[in-house]
Amino acid sequence: METDCLFCKIVNGEVPSLKIYEDEFTFAFLDIHPINRGHTLVVPKEHHQNIYTVPQSVFQHVMDTVRILAPKIKQAVAADGINIGINNETAAGQLVFHLHAHIIPRFNDDGHAHWHGNPYQTGEIETIKDIITQEFK
Ligand code: AMP
Ligand code: ZN
Repeated sequence: METDCLFCKIVNGEVPSLKIYEDEFTFAFLDIHPINRGHTLVVPKEHHQNIYTVPQSVFQHVMDTVRILAPKIKQAVAADGINIGINNETAAGQLVFHLHAHIIPRFNDDGHAHWHGNPYQTGEIETIKDIITQEFK
């Protein structure tokens, strides 16, 4: 428990939330500023900042809960699809530094644009593959 962390406070009930699910390791509640109705956040009860610091078992528990909840939320709000997302660091849009997975119901007519892809320059994709796979050596 981090005393300064909003999501730790939600997990321990210090800050109110609309809880939709809880088990030994995870807690899920409605996002207060949803992209679409039913937008849910799944957090581990243990405080970990993000993907870089979360232990494997804790992350697995979060993903297990995401997998359980996603189809139920889809069914409940009659969504046409679901986005699952985790923002890591400010550059990626992380505002709350307690790891959380977004479950975002999507509707065919919801008007949210999909991310735009950009083409690689000639030869660039091979270079990127090389510099990433270098990290594993
Ligand atoms: P992120 O940008 O990935 O860190 O996501 C943080 C999310 O937390 C945002 O979608 C906010 O709308 C949501 N949020 C912030 N405060 C609360 C709160 N008190 N209860 C529920 N959701 C919250
Ligand atoms: Zn926390």
